Amino acid sequence: MVVEMHAGLASDGGSKLKMLLTFVDALPNGNEEGIYYAIDLGGTSIRVLRVEVGAGSVIINRKVEHQPIPEELTKGTTESLFNFVALALKNFVEKEDGKDEKRALGFTFSFPVRQNSVSSGSLIRWTKGFSIEDTVGKDVAQCLNEALARCGLNVRVTALVNDTVGTLALGHYYDEDTVAAVIIGAGTNACYIERTDAIIKCQGLLTNSGGMVVNMEWGNFWSSHLPRTPYDISLDDKTQNRNDQGFEKMISGMYLGEIARLVLHRMAHESDVFGDAADILSTPFILSTPRLAAICEDDSPDLSEVRRILQEHLKIPDAPLKTRRLVVKVCDIVTRRAARLAAAGIVGILKKLGRDGSGAASSGRTRGQPKRTVVAIEGGLYQGYPVFREYLDEALEEILGEEVARNVTLRVTEDGSGVGAALLAAVHSLNR
Ligand code: ADP
Repeated sequence: MVVEMHAGLASDGGSKLKMLLTFVDALPNGNEEGIYYAIDLGGTSIRVLRVEVGAGSVIINRKVEHQPIPEELTKGTTESLFNFVALALKNFVEKEDGKDEKRALGFTFSFPVRQNSVSSGSLIRWTKGFSIEDTVGKDVAQCLNEALARCGLNVRVTALVNDTVGTLALGHYYDEDTVAAVIIGAGTNACYIERTDAIIKCQGLLTNSGGMVVNMEWGNFWSSHLPRTPYDISLDDKTQNRNDQGFEKMISGMYLGEIARLVLHRMAHESDVFGDAADILSTPFILSTPRLAAICEDDSPDLSEVRRILQEHLKIPDAPLKTRRLVVKVCDIVTRRAARLAAAGIVGILKKLGRDGSGAASSGRTRGQPKRTVVAIEGGLYQGYPVFREYLDEALEEILGEEVARNVTLRVTEDGSGVGAALLAAVHSLNR
């Protein structure tokens, strides 16, 4: 991971790790005051937020509204999509503050963007089912600003970020020792604060803080050192983004159930553990990750929850206890590998920052004291699946050693992609 981080920082295309510049060179520290808005666009619905903050890391008030995006807008024109977003914000702002208020806006746009400044960046390509050809290559913040102007709203984008950067911002708002953020949900990604002089691909880059948040896009990490099983290969073969997002396909919620399904399918094929009732195991994605989690977390002596899931969802009735144990074991191994890889990735970041307790040059110690290090973390898989968390923590301690691990805290934040973006708007607004 560290080798690939260096390669991605050295040149564009130098690694599968994109190591994208975010131009975020200052993070909220709790002194922000005022009312800020955020828009979170990254899936099937948009969210608009209003966040009121007071000095001392106090969030005085937070309001959120969801609006599903009509399917046709995800395949229509740039103007119609951004008009829709602007209108949702306009209605929200007018209800909350009246229409003439001038406010800073954080725009969380969770699609691949090549950032030009903290408040502008062009769309590289759409993902997640969106396909609006004429947006590709355009500055999405400008698209939104134009739509906001068209509907007469006095609000402009001051920070264009992705959800990982929002999570880091929110983590840093509460705790200034936060140096990185990780998301482990349906997908996975991470970002961290890098020294600008280490960002070789952008020589001469100067920031006031001497640092900049780098969006690793770590879901796409790959290395020949990473052991890949036939199940990983089968899974990859059937995805639309073949050969991409390799790390994500071993770790995140979208895939864990499917990996276990592929293992069980092979077992069914090559043995008679499931009798002849296992046809359904050939159906892709029939085992969801929350069900895999429920299988692992069944602590009843007769594994009754496992029996229920096998019966109701996989149409495998009457599996004997021994078979149910086998299913638990498979799900457990898939979970454990994912959690340990995520932990290894986190240690990679700490190592790059000299905070893993090893290197001599930047040993992560000041006057003999190990530096406290906080990593903000979010995502449905991490937050909803205690066994995953337990394995991740265990692996962190195993790799770092007890003494160093004691100084590393994983802190769960809530809604970094919304609140974090509003806080970044505060930090980067011209009125600061
Ligand atoms: P996103 O990554 O799209 O923002 P979330 O962070 O909400 O979404 O994560 C959703 C994912 O987390 C789901 O795809 C699911 O795989 C996983 N997940 C949610 N709850 C659980 C759970 N209780 N156990 C295991 N996995 C879960």
